[in-house]
Amino acid sequence: MSIGATLYPNDNADLDTLIRHADHAMYQAKLAGKNQLHFFNAADDKQIAYKQNKLQEIKQALTNNEFRLYYQPKVNMKTGKVFGAEALIRWHHPDKGMIPPLEFLPVIEGTGLEIELGNWVIHEALQQLTTWQQQDIDLEISVNISSFHLQSPAFFDQLKEALESHLDIKPQRLQLEILESSALGDLKTISAIIKNCQTILGVNVALDDFGTGYSSLAHIRDLSANVIKIDRSFIRDLLIDPDDYSITEGVIGLAKAFNLDIIAEGVETTEQGIMLILMGCQEAQGYHISRPLPAERFQTWLTDYTPNPDWLYYDQHTLSLQQKKIILLQLTSKQWFEKVLSLSDDNQIELSLAKCHLGAWLNQLEQDKVFNHHWLKGPIQAHDAMFNKARDLINIKSTLDIDIKPNAISEFKTTYQHLDTLLQSDDAMV
Ligand code: C2E
Ligand code: CA
Ligand code: CA
Repeated sequence: MSIGATLYPNDNADLDTLIRHADHAMYQAKLAGKNQLHFFNAADDKQIAYKQNKLQEIKQALTNNEFRLYYQPKVNMKTGKVFGAEALIRWHHPDKGMIPPLEFLPVIEGTGLEIELGNWVIHEALQQLTTWQQQDIDLEISVNISSFHLQSPAFFDQLKEALESHLDIKPQRLQLEILESSALGDLKTISAIIKNCQTILGVNVALDDFGTGYSSLAHIRDLSANVIKIDRSFIRDLLIDPDDYSITEGVIGLAKAFNLDIIAEGVETTEQGIMLILMGCQEAQGYHISRPLPAERFQTWLTDYTPNPDWLYYDQHTLSLQQKKIILLQLTSKQWFEKVLSLSDDNQIELSLAKCHLGAWLNQLEQDKVFNHHWLKGPIQAHDAMFNKARDLINIKSTLDIDIKPNAISEFKTTYQHLDTLLQSDDAMV
């Protein structure tokens, strides 16, 4: 039983309105599950009306064909090959211009409209695959599938229908990106749906935003994904935050252990790409390669695309463990140095100083005996000197002694250059 109620005179309305309010409250009670009592609340009511309005607007937009799919290239950094694209939805609003997905997708979450829009995305992506195939463009497309859509009873049949209406397209060209967190629902059900989509229909499945969920280990074991996608939040500070580095390293290791493909999202710099390559992840997407593009601009981008030579380098050169470690040390020390410098302008360096890869890594390298013990002493001392100079910079901030700051910055730069020179020397071998 669900009970809705409103209290007069707090809810100071006429009789008809009071009954309507109680009715709304009962609706809320039903939404909350069985045997619930809910009191009418004017703020809730306004929100429901607002949501209904928005839903109506989005429904109309779908009818008016105002949605567009943008495509963000997915590349193999080592070979330079573009092998696919992720489809990302945009709303081209006639008055408000382009509206990003996170501004309208939450409104339709858990509604029939979410399923309708999800099916539109699948059809549109398949249509794009047909167009590309006719232009001899040989790519896969991945589409984002919401948790509610994936678990809706008709999902499998509707996907099957969509594929059957595009018989020219190999199903393997279509990849479903499923949020790792969506598996928080019923793991067994989701696992069965994924398996059926793979084995009966032939599509691929990627676990999206991997590492952000609560039980990534169970998911990787129970969900038969083909690909794991490392979330952008771990890539952003990969070179600065040792925790993000460790998580990324762990996720790459897991993918390898389970024999899955791995791709990183949100690659914004050459250095992040190199780091990922050295860590064993070759596939990536991100603003450094390209932003998501409308279909008509994607083809031009593809024609003009030149792979990043700093990434291609690693396809032609096999590095020893020592060489890899040296490059990792160079990249992180450079990134850390630049971050401290930029933050010292804003007087907030203590943030970045709280964590530093280098010290921990150098100690680890000493234990692992990767390098000549005598040689390693040099970088360790240089690192300590650099760290001390950075600490001086913080102290200047707290005493507000502005006159000595340029001097401290210049000393900090000297210590970094010394470290960098040591890391570039050839005498590191055991
Ligand atoms: P997502 O699946 O994690 O997609 C990646 C998001 O990161 C996209 O945002 C993309 O534009 C952005 N991005 C890519 N590279 C970079 C980068 O180097 N730096 C930064 N800062 N951002 C980058 P977008 O397009 O706004 O989409 C946001 C989210 O909305 C998506 O996150 C996805 O969860 C959802 N979404 C987008 N399109 C669809 C769709 O068609 N269906 C469903 N169900 N969800 C969608
Ligand atoms: Ca995605
Ligand atoms: Ca993400």
